Amino acid sequence: MAFHFMVVDDSAAMREFIVRVIELSGLEVGTCMQASNGREALDLLRANWIDIVLTDINMPVMNGEQFVTSMFEDEMLRKIPVLVISTDGSERRVQRMMSLGARGYVKKPFSPETLRRSMEPLLGGGR
Ligand SMILES: [Mg+2]
Repeated sequence: MAFHFMVVDDSAAMREFIVRVIELSGLEVGTCMQASNGREALDLLRANWIDIVLTDINMPVMNGEQFVTSMFEDEMLRKIPVLVISTDGSERRVQRMMSLGARGYVKKPFSPETLRRSMEPLLGGGR
């Protein structure tokens, strides 16, 4: 079974890096969609099947907090596991994102191995 990923970050270079890590992770990759902010991501999520969302916090238009909040207000979208990837690794920020519904947190910069290990448990639940 191939997994469908969505990478949300306003940095194109960071998105490409994350996509590359996903491709090299050994996981079976179906699609790997990209969005540069939460608004774009919500539009794509409503039109495409996605198994896991990896999202930045600091983004223009709609940031990660607003994005995760909107996902969890939606009965369908709230079922999709969210992994936050941010330069802000403060306890307060991590707790805030987890309380909004995020299922994992990775601080930038990160190694490919750290990202892979953080994604795996979120993909275990199946559909
Ligand atoms: Mg950013």
